[in-house]
Amino acid sequence: MGTKYVFITGGVVSSLGKGIIASSLAKLLQARGLRVTIQKFDPYINIDPGTLNPYEHGECYVTEDGAETDLDLGHYERFLGVHTSKANNVTTGKIYNTVITKEREGAYLGKTVQIVPHITDEIKRRMTLLGQSGEYDIILTEIGGTVGDMESQPFIEAVRQLQWELPEEDCMSIHLTLVPFLNAAKELKTKPTQHSVQMLQQGGVQPDVIICRTEHPLTDDIRRKVALFCNVKPGHVIQSIDAWSIYQVPLNMHAEHLDELVVRKLQIENFNAPDLDRWRQFLDRLAHPSKEVDIALVGKYVSLQDAYKSIQEALVHAGAANDCKVHVHSILSEDITDSNAADYLKGMDGILVAPGFGQRGLEGKVHAIKYARENGIPFLGICLGMQMCVVEFARNVLGFADAASTELYPDTTHPVIDLMEEQKKTTMKGGTMRLGAYDCTLEKGTLAYKIYGCKDISERHRHRYEFNARYAKDFADAGLVASGHNPQTGLTEIVEIPSHPFFIGSQFHPEYKSTPEKPHPLFKGFVEAGLQYRESKS
Ligand code: GLN
Repeated sequence: MGTKYVFITGGVVSSLGKGIIASSLAKLLQARGLRVTIQKFDPYINIDPGTLNPYEHGECYVTEDGAETDLDLGHYERFLGVHTSKANNVTTGKIYNTVITKEREGAYLGKTVQIVPHITDEIKRRMTLLGQSGEYDIILTEIGGTVGDMESQPFIEAVRQLQWELPEEDCMSIHLTLVPFLNAAKELKTKPTQHSVQMLQQGGVQPDVIICRTEHPLTDDIRRKVALFCNVKPGHVIQSIDAWSIYQVPLNMHAEHLDELVVRKLQIENFNAPDLDRWRQFLDRLAHPSKEVDIALVGKYVSLQDAYKSIQEALVHAGAANDCKVHVHSILSEDITDSNAADYLKGMDGILVAPGFGQRGLEGKVHAIKYARENGIPFLGICLGMQMCVVEFARNVLGFADAASTELYPDTTHPVIDLMEEQKKTTMKGGTMRLGAYDCTLEKGTLAYKIYGCKDISERHRHRYEFNARYAKDFADAGLVASGHNPQTGLTEIVEIPSHPFFIGSQFHPEYKSTPEKPHPLFKGFVEAGLQYRESKS
């Protein structure tokens, strides 16, 4: 069997959860024994979201191979438990960059370079690239944005052409829309869905399946109406009702026969029921926790729920693994001062200080860390959160009053966090940080070693600054030790305070690798320490 393609578009409004639907369908197909991956095509012009403020586009997710990608790739990895790569996220910027570079090289000599065929050819080339590896039975392609957006048109056109080129049974199209409920009329309305599908049809794409996001169950009448007006088979209108957890969506989609429709349409001779035992076990733990903990998430983008997506999800996984509900209290770091830290953090069972860039809210992070350190509250600092725990310790324990990261205070006399050597020559901003997976060797006898249960680990990174090894001895003598290093460069990857019940700062981002079926040890250990702290108070 050659690789088959499923295209997923969205209409009516944005934020319908195409990424979750794509991930859920992929999960079901994978659970039927098929080899599946998902890719995302984003119509914006940035080469990647690495240069975007999280308020613009949510978290920037990082893959093993160091691609800065859309946060939906995080969902893909969490649902499927397999790694994605640079090739799984393509933007308009990447497409144009390739075509314009080729034009300068003379690849199209004599020709006018146009959206059709040159841009659409490049989109198609990338859409089928992963399929050529022979590693996948099915590739799901999510088209970002909403049908009808000016910038998504070349992508819809590429889908049309591919559907025309490929055998009928090798591709299909799924359209996700919203069926709003009008409270005044007490009615579900299908007109926006009809218009959205018409728009897609104008582009030459006929969806095979329509998935309707809805807050109320769709009646048979509504399903028939959508099917008739949108030209799909009656059984091909699927409801996606609001779920109590995103991880419930695969089961909801299975109950609606989505995976069955897909394997039938793609003529896949694999009608095994999906094996979802482990997934159901996770959901069961998630739904019925017997304990609870309160965790403070201190960061500067807390008002947007997508800004720390992977951290939030990693806490969900760790909660389920510890039979406990994690209540995450988002705290804006710039609100915290030395004198009011207790007002915000008293009652918390754990304090997590988030990654980030720039000055805003930085001192608040330092105050929150001081509070965690002095009061024996479990602490996990990630990337900038780790860097600030080093700064806090330097200022308040070592007595280096102006200790800082040179990212924010270049003139400090105690640059305890400093620019990495390899970064000193870098002038370009996009894609030039220390990115992706790097090895780390943990020191025997440390908390980190105990938590991971092994010496050699690999974790993903996204930073330019590092722990300044010049001060390592001062820190160790005063009680903050480096518990892991990169074996090739010697860079400090993780620090801890052995005299504290649980105080860990990681230069890497553990959140990117946590999945429901494989919760991350650091998050699991952190939540467990939170539970112990909570019990010790009562
Ligand atoms: N701004 C810091 C650095 O570049 C931390 C980055 C992060 O938290 N991802 O090193």
